[in-house]
Amino acid sequence: LVRIEGVHKYFGEHHVLRGIDMTVKQGEVSVLIGPSGSGKSTLLRCVNHLETISAGRIWVKDELIGYKEKGGKLHELHVKEVAAQRRNIGMVFQRFNLFGHKTALENVMEAPVQVKGQDKATAKKRALELLDRVGLSDRAKHYPAQLSGGQQQRVAIARALAMDPELMLFDEPTSALDPELVGDVLNVMKDLAKSGMTMVVVTHEIGFAREVGDTLTFMDGGVVVESGNPRDVIANPRQERTREFLSKVL
Ligand code: ATP
Ligand code: MG
Repeated sequence: LVRIEGVHKYFGEHHVLRGIDMTVKQGEVSVLIGPSGSGKSTLLRCVNHLETISAGRIWVKDELIGYKEKGGKLHELHVKEVAAQRRNIGMVFQRFNLFGHKTALENVMEAPVQVKGQDKATAKKRALELLDRVGLSDRAKHYPAQLSGGQQQRVAIARALAMDPELMLFDEPTSALDPELVGDVLNVMKDLAKSGMTMVVVTHEIGFAREVGDTLTFMDGGVVVESGNPRDVIANPRQERTREFLSKVL
């Protein structure tokens, strides 16, 4: 479903992604780990074209993301075309980014109504189903400020799912949460994985990677250092850098 080939990214002189190759098959959960500054967030942001790329190509569902190719050259797509591609890709960030003046229900209904032009009754029915799915059917009328961080993050997941994406990107969805709230969010993500959703997850939750991940990729300094079956990578890292990193987060 996702194919990343030879992706480089510069911020000015700063060479942040240095030739990333990666594939994620339909229904797979791909977990990304690596030290701060290794380029994990940048890579995720490139996948839905929140960042331009300096070289390489990214495809989601055989569609080149952010660009069209003409005579061997890449031209950036029009904002509207990028927006259409993003509809298929849900993203959940470390910070919940909910609309503060809207209830949980309204947050989840927003994109289907505004972007897809869905009628409100249909959007509401679906939003309530999604809130139920993330365990928040009794919080539909609450505003973000009246919800815990973990509940807000689950609303954010429901909101992303409301657009029926085929791919979900998670950037450290639990790292801003109090420890006792992490489990609920990880359980929602686990259920989502079980339902067959294709997911790329940046997280330091190694237990989640081991239990739910199909592949574990360790990035450092803008390159993929190693990638493989999570259990194998965790139990027998082949690279010294991976070993060292894992010893710090385990
Ligand atoms: P963390 O674990 O701390 O979230 P990360 O692996 O997600 O780290 P990135 O956020 O991708 O790392 O950042 C990689 C590098 O790119 C860092 O050195 C960062 O300072 C730099 N960087 C990220 N975004 C920008 C930007 N918009 N402009 C300039 N430099 C940036
Ligand atoms: Mg990051």
